[in-house]
Amino acid sequence: MNILAVGAHPDDLEILCGGTLAKYAKRGDKVFMAHLCNGNMGGKDIAPEELADIRDREAKNSAAIIGAEALGPVAGDLDLYPTKEMRIAVVDIIRMAKPDVIITHSVNDYMPDHVITGRLVFDAAFTATLPLYKTKLPAHEKIMPIYYMETLAGFGFEPSHYVDITEFMAIKKKMLLAHESQYKWLSGHHQAEPVKMLEKVAGFRGVQCGVEYAEAFSMARVWGRISMESLLP
Ligand SMILES: [Zn+2]
Repeated sequence: MNILAVGAHPDDLEILCGGTLAKYAKRGDKVFMAHLCNGNMGGKDIAPEELADIRDREAKNSAAIIGAEALGPVAGDLDLYPTKEMRIAVVDIIRMAKPDVIITHSVNDYMPDHVITGRLVFDAAFTATLPLYKTKLPAHEKIMPIYYMETLAGFGFEPSHYVDITEFMAIKKKMLLAHESQYKWLSGHHQAEPVKMLEKVAGFRGVQCGVEYAEAFSMARVWGRISMESLLP
């Protein structure tokens, strides 16, 4: 299968679904890791242009750990809006990856880039399948299921599916640690130590489903996107 995960910033996918992506990759699926925003606001001591370059490199390094392909970005941080231009950009990411399943942010997450990413991906996922909707790339052949990742720290999120990532916790952490520029920033500004947060959230989701560590998802429940078999690994 082709798997397309779309996060807002470099590091969101690692935090919210890195174990699941590693599990897909290990069983031989082709994994694309896209981020829509370039990460240029994720700090305070480095100029935005330089930071965007650093974070692009970090995203590629993280994707390389599981043999995934990094895609994006299409906008600066906090410069992502649900516009026609952005929808077309996301349509082309989908048409490029030809996914059998899409993973993206919940639309009730904690900040606008996450909310808008979830919205743009939902809207573009339908648009991408229309042959008469012309962009740089030809239409994707089918409507595919969408799984929403949980919100940061799980606020207001009710899972419909769980993935046992116990065997993939080490690689999930390694992927997150590839985002070297982010630890100091996140622990100072967001009052969160990212690796500890991973362990706690994945441990809590594991308690819910009877394994040591898990990641939680909610399938988009709309017509045309329901799969009878779970497409999660
Ligand atoms: Zn983010």
